[in-house]
Amino acid sequence: MGVLAPAAKWRAYVIPKDRTPWSQFLRQAFRVQVLRCARCGNARRILAEVTGADAVKGILEHLGLPLDTEGPVPTRGPPLADLPWAS
Ligand SMILES: [Zn+2]
Repeated sequence: MGVLAPAAKWRAYVIPKDRTPWSQFLRQAFRVQVLRCARCGNARRILAEVTGADAVKGILEHLGLPLDTEGPVPTRGPPLADLPWAS
Protein backbone atom coordinates (compact mmCIF):
# COMPACT_ATOMS: atom_id res chain seq x y z
CA MET A 1 0.00 0.00 0.00
CA GLY A 2 1.32 3.43 -0.88
CA VAL A 3 1.74 6.44 1.35
CA LEU A 4 -1.22 8.18 -0.29
CA ALA A 5 -3.74 5.53 0.76
CA PRO A 6 -6.32 6.75 3.29
CA ALA A 7 -5.04 4.54 6.12
CA ALA A 8 -1.35 4.67 5.23
CA LYS A 9 0.94 5.12 8.24
CA TRP A 10 3.04 7.84 6.56
CA ARG A 11 0.15 9.71 4.92
CA ALA A 12 0.17 12.54 7.47
CA TYR A 13 3.83 13.21 6.66
CA VAL A 14 3.17 13.36 2.92
CA ILE A 15 -0.16 15.17 2.76
CA PRO A 16 -0.70 18.13 5.06
CA LYS A 17 -4.05 18.25 6.83
CA ASP A 18 -4.76 21.85 5.89
CA ARG A 19 -4.64 21.43 2.14
CA THR A 20 -5.75 24.33 -0.03
CA PRO A 21 -9.04 23.53 -1.78
CA TRP A 22 -8.85 23.29 -5.58
CA SER A 23 -11.52 25.97 -5.86
CA GLN A 24 -9.20 28.42 -4.10
CA PHE A 25 -6.39 27.68 -6.57
CA LEU A 26 -8.76 28.35 -9.47
CA ARG A 27 -9.89 31.59 -7.86
CA GLN A 28 -6.29 32.74 -7.36
CA ALA A 29 -5.07 31.70 -10.81
CA PHE A 30 -8.05 32.57 -12.99
CA ARG A 31 -10.20 34.83 -10.79
CA VAL A 32 -13.05 32.38 -11.24
CA GLN A 33 -15.25 31.42 -8.34
CA VAL A 34 -16.22 27.95 -9.47
CA LEU A 35 -18.34 27.28 -6.42
CA ARG A 36 -20.51 30.39 -6.93
CA CYS A 37 -23.23 30.78 -9.53
CA ALA A 38 -22.27 33.54 -11.98
CA ARG A 39 -25.90 34.59 -12.35
CA CYS A 40 -27.28 34.68 -8.81
CA GLY A 41 -24.15 34.33 -6.63
CA ASN A 42 -25.52 31.36 -4.70
CA ALA A 43 -23.25 28.50 -3.72
CA ARG A 44 -22.80 25.70 -6.21
CA ARG A 45 -22.37 22.12 -5.19
CA ILE A 46 -21.11 19.10 -7.04
CA LEU A 47 -23.98 16.73 -7.79
CA ALA A 48 -22.13 14.03 -9.72
CA GLU A 49 -18.99 13.16 -11.58
CA VAL A 50 -19.76 12.08 -15.12
CA THR A 51 -16.99 10.15 -16.80
CA GLY A 52 -18.70 7.69 -19.13
CA ALA A 53 -18.27 8.68 -22.77
CA ASP A 54 -21.88 7.86 -23.69
CA ALA A 55 -23.25 9.84 -20.76
CA VAL A 56 -21.03 12.83 -21.53
CA LYS A 57 -22.07 12.69 -25.19
CA GLY A 58 -25.75 12.56 -24.22
CA ILE A 59 -25.43 15.54 -21.90
CA LEU A 60 -23.57 17.63 -24.49
CA GLU A 61 -26.16 16.77 -27.14
CA HIS A 62 -29.01 17.65 -24.78
CA LEU A 63 -27.42 21.02 -24.02
CA GLY A 64 -26.70 21.69 -27.69
CA LEU A 65 -22.97 21.90 -27.06
CA PRO A 66 -20.37 20.69 -29.58
CA LEU A 67 -19.23 17.10 -29.28
CA ASP A 68 -15.89 17.64 -30.93
CA THR A 69 -13.36 20.33 -30.42
CA GLU A 70 -10.66 21.41 -32.76
CA GLY A 71 -8.12 19.76 -30.50
CA PRO A 72 -5.07 21.29 -28.93
CA VAL A 73 -3.54 24.34 -30.46
CA PRO A 74 -0.27 23.44 -32.19
CA THR A 75 2.85 24.69 -30.52
CA ARG A 76 4.94 27.40 -32.07
CA GLY A 77 8.14 29.19 -31.31
CA PRO A 78 8.26 32.70 -29.90
CA PRO A 79 7.75 35.56 -32.35
CA LEU A 80 11.29 36.28 -33.46
CA ALA A 81 10.64 39.93 -34.14
CA ASP A 82 9.99 40.48 -30.42
CA LEU A 83 13.34 39.07 -29.31
CA PRO A 84 16.06 41.70 -28.70
CA TRP A 85 18.75 39.80 -30.66
CA ALA A 86 16.58 39.00 -33.71
CA SER A 87 17.03 42.07 -35.83
ZN1 LIG B 1 -27.72 30.75 -9.78
